[in-house]
Amino acid sequence: MGFNLATIASESARSHPGKVAVISGDHRITYAELDQLSDRFASNLRARGIRPGDAVGLQLPNLPHFVIAYFGLLKAGAVVVPMNVLYKADEVGYILRDSETRLLITWAGVAEEAAKGAAQAGLSDLVMVTTPGTTAPRDSVAFESLLAEQPGPPPFHQSDPGDTAVIVYTSGTTGRPKGAELTHFQLFMNADTPGRLFGVRDDDVILVVLPLFHIFALSSILNVCARFAATMTLVPRFDVATVLATIERDRVTVFEGVPTMYIALLNHPDLDRYDVSSLRVGISGGAPIPAEVIDAFERRFGIVILEGYGLSETASTTTFNVSAEDRRVYSVGRPIWGVQVEVWNEHGAALPPGREHIGELVVRGVNVMRGYRGNPQASKDAFTGGWFHTGDLGYVDEDGYFFVVDRKKELIIRGGYNVYPREVEDALYTHPAVAQAAVVGVPDALLGQEVKAFVALHPGQDLRPEELIEHVKARIAPYKYPRSVEFRAQLPMTAAGKILKREL
Ligand code: ATP
Repeated sequence: MGFNLATIASESARSHPGKVAVISGDHRITYAELDQLSDRFASNLRARGIRPGDAVGLQLPNLPHFVIAYFGLLKAGAVVVPMNVLYKADEVGYILRDSETRLLITWAGVAEEAAKGAAQAGLSDLVMVTTPGTTAPRDSVAFESLLAEQPGPPPFHQSDPGDTAVIVYTSGTTGRPKGAELTHFQLFMNADTPGRLFGVRDDDVILVVLPLFHIFALSSILNVCARFAATMTLVPRFDVATVLATIERDRVTVFEGVPTMYIALLNHPDLDRYDVSSLRVGISGGAPIPAEVIDAFERRFGIVILEGYGLSETASTTTFNVSAEDRRVYSVGRPIWGVQVEVWNEHGAALPPGREHIGELVVRGVNVMRGYRGNPQASKDAFTGGWFHTGDLGYVDEDGYFFVVDRKKELIIRGGYNVYPREVEDALYTHPAVAQAAVVGVPDALLGQEVKAFVALHPGQDLRPEELIEHVKARIAPYKYPRSVEFRAQLPMTAAGKILKREL
């Protein structure tokens, strides 16, 4: 049986040819145009010698070129390797070598690091996208040249559904980044099921400010939109005013973001100047969203925020809160169709429901990766009897709703007591002056680890560390509250907008 993930776009071109697929500023591309452009891209890739199974790096910000190249690569049968535009030369070089990439499609805005990285991997072929204010190196190939018409029918590779379609590199908090191999079928399922669950319609306009090279936007926005012929409006960089203006201009109906984005939107001083009445739902994932933020956002924007949970290795969505009626605040929801989640103790035994039974979340089902590219040891370590170890700690309630307590590696052990940073962060967020909070363990001679909080306050707010500590102390057990608080203007964040704890 042949199944290529690009079918999601070509079928929408057939059913909704005139429907706008991509908006980027004033530029609009319909599904028919996307189909034609990606066909040409696929033909030109073939003409350049790219064969089914070849890996091709795709390192672009949220531009229409990303979407065209993505479907063009899939049609040609190539394996897409999305890459962060913020990568330095060594990271680019490492990933290109590790994935044995044949060609790199990148952006002139990061040409220097990309070219150095490509040289490390012995790659000379660089396809460059230029945008206003950027200049491509002289010896690179212009992206536009891959959109030229070619003789003959465009390729549409009949992949096996179990073939790798995309390799997503983890951000490498535990050593070198590892490439999670996701298949055509798996990515299809992760567009189809979540899209149905939150009822994506062809008249939806979904804002894409999460980077497309990250699994959240790639799987849960780009693939979902293509599957249901919805429109995506691209925002290349997170800037609150731009996001609000885009919601107003394009009558955005769905916002998908990480918690830091919801917090930033809520805190924008000129919120009232924008018409955001078109929004019908918000989707949050990637990190825990504090209940206070959900509440405040829902009251202010008049929409429901649905939280989901997933990882690169699970092609994005694993569990999801399906609707306002069905959700549980603090819970990441229930496993989606075809996915099973269990809570295991350290001996690999499944734990019963109940918040007193915290263990590691393990996942099995259609959404779980094949393994890590070229890394049999890491792949073996990641699974036990077919169950994938998420590295996240959590529990399940009697009704099958899952709760993520924290990441295993971020657990703080203070004098033998387990402190879950998230619980302390939630207590910090209950203080009205707190805009961002991150709790980490710091070495302590006596206790092994001590609890420390990094906090960014809302603009114009003033607070002494002792006041905040008193506030938290009144809310959680004595062994958990932070013994020190450090204020920062802003906390460091990943490209996907998650707070970067390892830098703290
Ligand atoms: P790395 O690549 O270093 O593993 P990362 O862990 O951020 O970085 P991703 O695959 O982007 O990699 O993110 C998956 C992780 O994000 C999960 O393992 C979990 O810790 C966290 N996460 C995702 N959704 C939620 C959620 N709703 N609540 C709490 N944590 C979440």
